Amino acid sequence: MDNARDIAVNCRQYAMCKIDFLGSGVCASGLERHYVTFYPQGRMLLYAALADGKIPVTEKCVQAADSCNLCGKCDYQCYFVTEMRPTKVMRALKTLVGKHVAAGNPILKEKETFLLREMQEIVGPNWATGDRGVAVTYSTDPCPMAKPQMPDYVVMPKTREEIACLITLFNGNGIPG
Ligand code: SF4
Repeated sequence: MDNARDIAVNCRQYAMCKIDFLGSGVCASGLERHYVTFYPQGRMLLYAALADGKIPVTEKCVQAADSCNLCGKCDYQCYFVTEMRPTKVMRALKTLVGKHVAAGNPILKEKETFLLREMQEIVGPNWATGDRGVAVTYSTDPCPMAKPQMPDYVVMPKTREEIACLITLFNGNGIPG
């Protein structure tokens, strides 16, 4: 399979690229940023969404594209399981976003909302976002019964206390658990 979009849409989303099962290492940007958007798995969805025009280029799209250093670790892992080479997609993502930025085209900034501010107050500014580039990487999973659905926000609490505060926030704002 050579075409970047074909590879991207054929990712099974099993998240094996988050585990060092070959001893060849794990994507450094994923380990640092934690959002799936910064792992090969998420960048597959991100590239497909951008190539299909489903989302605009956002600040986090640019960060995700820039944070891949084309080290090739994901090729070892993904080829072992699926015989696909994600770096073709990673390179295509960098090219697509790079051309957009170089042409001076708009880069969508995250919309500030009350709920986002409150979530960031609880988990810290880096761990809650409504950026569409992140949201699209949380919009689907491998279950054939699950329909793709874009979340409004992605939030990553670290402690039980943060989870409890988030649930209180959501309950107070009519967001079902
Ligand atoms: S090539 Fe990019 S996506 Fe793949 S492991 Fe290296 S940094 Fe991560």
